[in-house]
Amino acid sequence: MKTIEHWIDGKASAASSTRTAPVFNPATGAQQAEVLLAAKSDVDTAVDAARRAFENWSQASLSQRAKVLFAFRELVNANVDQLAGLITDEHGKVLSDAAGEVQRGLEVVEFACGIPHLLKGDYSDQVSTNIDTFSFREPLGVVAGITPFNFPVMVPMWMHPVAIACGNTFLLKPSERDPSASMLVAELWQRAGLPDGVFNVVNGDKDAVDAILDSPDVAAVSFVGSTPIARYIHQRASATGKRVQALGGAKNHAIVLPDADLDFASDHLVAAAFGSAGERCMAISAAVAVGAAGDAVVDAVTAKAAAVKVGSGRDAGNEMGPVVTQAARERIVGLIGSGERQGARVTVDGRGLVVSGFEDGFFVGPTVLDQVTTDMDVYREEIFGPVLSVLRADTVDDAIALVNANPYGNGTAIFTSSGDAARRFQRGVKVGMIGINVPVPVPMAYYSFGGWKDSLFGDKHVHGPEGISFYTRAKVVTARWPERHHAAEASYHFPTAT
Ligand code: NAD
Repeated sequence: MKTIEHWIDGKASAASSTRTAPVFNPATGAQQAEVLLAAKSDVDTAVDAARRAFENWSQASLSQRAKVLFAFRELVNANVDQLAGLITDEHGKVLSDAAGEVQRGLEVVEFACGIPHLLKGDYSDQVSTNIDTFSFREPLGVVAGITPFNFPVMVPMWMHPVAIACGNTFLLKPSERDPSASMLVAELWQRAGLPDGVFNVVNGDKDAVDAILDSPDVAAVSFVGSTPIARYIHQRASATGKRVQALGGAKNHAIVLPDADLDFASDHLVAAAFGSAGERCMAISAAVAVGAAGDAVVDAVTAKAAAVKVGSGRDAGNEMGPVVTQAARERIVGLIGSGERQGARVTVDGRGLVVSGFEDGFFVGPTVLDQVTTDMDVYREEIFGPVLSVLRADTVDDAIALVNANPYGNGTAIFTSSGDAARRFQRGVKVGMIGINVPVPVPMAYYSFGGWKDSLFGDKHVHGPEGISFYTRAKVVTARWPERHHAAEASYHFPTAT
């Protein structure tokens, strides 16, 4: 059985870990590896390596840092297929989607390649007589990323390329369900010329996370995962004085107005609900059909959901793979059952799906529930599986109110041909990322990604300008270079004249 170790100070290391967790292939249901679970002492060893590496890396010139970023970009690009294969074998998503995930991560690396430009400060000449003011930003120190299972390459890449480009050193604690891709990423950083200790991977569970949160030598924590853990991370890391951004779960709604192109809308709804088996924080899990759109939307998504090709992610003919674990499968099946008991109409039922040749795989087929109401568990819970709930609303304003009553605020979309309705929607929803006839409105790397309300704790979104701001702190210098001392210039009151 293969053992997945940690990556500390430029090499794979077992450190002192004694506990392990199984890593499954979700398509076959078989265990394929075990991953070490770090103890506090292992985290301390990695933090110490990162702390020592910070001394030199924080002094590396912008050109040196950009050069490593460009080399890393080339290496990730050359290894897309290998990374995608590791993702598919441990996460389950289809290979084309795994390659797309790497591509979106790569775009953050490309953004970070522009670090000399991104770190330019401000300069004001002659703010007072013979006095100039300028600002610049410095790295924080050792920063950590704690990431979820559903994007094992992309979500860490929202963080480490930006943090490292800014001059920080990085400790990644990936999901214990699919840790292998992070070990390859560590090797690619090393081959790109990144000094040892600047990028470290510590595998583990709550013990490793708590050691990171409590470490006095970790300056900032970026977290992406479920809302209860995001809330916990924010509170515990803030208590030890760290800077924190903790992105949580989601319940993303798509409003469909009767004036929309319903064929276009239903194609996109089905792709957004069932791509990656619904295990995306930006997946559409609730469609809100307005007025006369109702039955037409349900009929169209029912037909299209039933036609989705489900099977092993390694088979290029498939559009959707398994979910990540048997426990996830059971939870999703249970929620579909509760929806049915509480009055929803199941128009496509994925509970009984068996994939020939993969009978032990963790499969749930695409499922559509109609007549869902906001008091049902299937609506209130984040399902994180291939289930699309359809709710009804009478008007666009009712639909906007429904979106705003939900505690999450990650993403949302509207399908319409009315500019007026779209504008009311974009101004009215309390959500961070908004799509207009775009169902999965993930911002490009040069914008920042993040939600509102229970989808984000902390006040900075990831990557883009807010990522640069999160991983640096500002200095503002006010300077003069007097040739002669004029005693009259040293005054005991704030200046009253300029
Ligand atoms: P999770 O919250 O279970 O785990 C996330 C990370 O936290 C993992 O590294 C895990 O090891 C660690 N962790 C788990 N339990 C912990 C505990 N009790 N104490 C300390 N650390 C703990 O999430 P997941 O199941 O891996 O991922 C799915 C979730 O992530 C969904 O809720 C999804 O919406 C969310 N997500 C959000 C975004 C976003 O951008 N907002 C993006 C991707 C995923």
